[in-house]
Amino acid sequence: MGLGRDEMDKSVSEDFLRLKQQVVQFIEQDLEPVHLQVEESAEIPEHLVDKMRRLGLFGLSIPRDYGGLGLTTLEEILIYEEITKTNACFRSRIGTSNGIGSMGILYDGTEEQKRRYLPRVASGEWTAAFALTEPDAGSDAANISTQAVLDGDSWVLNGTKQFITNADTAQFFTTIAVTDETKGASGGVTAFIVERDAPGFVVGPADVKMGLKGSHTHELVFKDCRVPAENVIGGMARVGQGFKTAMRVLDKGRLSMGACAVGAAQKVLDLCVERVQRELASGMAKADLQAEMFALADMATQLYAARQMLYSTAIKKDEGRNVTQEASMTKIFCTEMASRIAGLAMDSFGEEGILTRSRIEIFLRDVRLYRIYEGTSEIQRIIVSRNLLKNSRSRA
Ligand SMILES: Cc1cc2nc3c(=O)[nH]c(=O)nc-3n(C[C@H](O)[C@H](O)[C@H](O)COP(=O)(O)OP(=O)(O)OC[C@H]3O[C@@H](n4cnc5c(N)ncnc54)[C@H](O)[C@@H]3O)c2cc1C
Repeated sequence: MGLGRDEMDKSVSEDFLRLKQQVVQFIEQDLEPVHLQVEESAEIPEHLVDKMRRLGLFGLSIPRDYGGLGLTTLEEILIYEEITKTNACFRSRIGTSNGIGSMGILYDGTEEQKRRYLPRVASGEWTAAFALTEPDAGSDAANISTQAVLDGDSWVLNGTKQFITNADTAQFFTTIAVTDETKGASGGVTAFIVERDAPGFVVGPADVKMGLKGSHTHELVFKDCRVPAENVIGGMARVGQGFKTAMRVLDKGRLSMGACAVGAAQKVLDLCVERVQRELASGMAKADLQAEMFALADMATQLYAARQMLYSTAIKKDEGRNVTQEASMTKIFCTEMASRIAGLAMDSFGEEGILTRSRIEIFLRDVRLYRIYEGTSEIQRIIVSRNLLKNSRSRA
């Protein structure tokens, strides 16, 4: 089976194609016209968030039983690919909530937790966030030091998280904390649901970032923060299992990052093609545009390869296969490809590209961040190489 975009459309349902059509229309009519305004104000207008709710975008991958659209991984990334052709923060607003913010509950939560949180996330009434990173534990997530201690019928959390996306709008946070220092990541880390109004929980000011301006990250401070004992994701039986939950959530997040990179790269390529067409229309000879034409060919070739990786990994995941290694390879390749393409586009556009808030300049900044969050490129390389060594040992 071919894995180009058109062929892919043939392997999804009619219902999904109708949804995708609506999303494309929403992007063209509502999001694209305000992409620069959102970049400048660093805010998404509330009426657009409302429209996202009405389209069901906050529940893309949440099962229908919990009020979501129940899309497959492949379908979900096809939607993300479209949305990231405009301002990247639109995808972040929905994707973090529907993705890393709430997937831990979907994967490992109790039925009661699923019933309380997932329908509210799916409808967009509540936003979810994911709190793992700390000042001294980013890549080395097993090194987190936020502590949770059971005291009567509540857990008491102390510590600081940083760079937490959607912290300004989230009603609850999937929070990863240490419950047994002696066991570390294997058995000593637990995933909690911390609601915004938990006593002792404070959201700090927004970070000032180079990109993804309309998607805000914040510090979180837990100071003797009390959450009910039943807020352990999966209940008391899963105390100590939170690192596994976090890693499973990130496997999926890595494919979403790949989709964002592919969508952005496609838009950059489209802009470059339009530019060369304009030059030709204005009378320039093809021979004089050879450098630009070769750049187009290189961009299209890299994008094609990235898209095949992304789609085939999503299909494998939908078949229930373990894609830890493939998800990491996809994240490395797609996000680094998007940076290369944005760089080539900057060369082609020259002065027009370097202007602050030109389309290419915005993409160049935004796609750079994809290489950092949900695990940096270096960390993905460590995951891939460890897997290779493990598998070759098990074959020996
Ligand atoms: C826009 C954005 C949104 C984010 N949203 C969230 C969120 O919602 N929730 C959340 O929990 N976190 C979030 N993060 C945090 C993100 O996951 C971390 O920034 C990332 O994991 C890297 O951690 P760090 O920044 O502490 O860098 P560090 O871990 O300090 O790494 C610094 C550099 O050293 C390299 N490095 C580290 N260890 C090794 C090693 N062993 N071998 C080789 N190189 C290494 C890294 O690759 C990197 O280049 C977000 C970050 C960004 C930029």
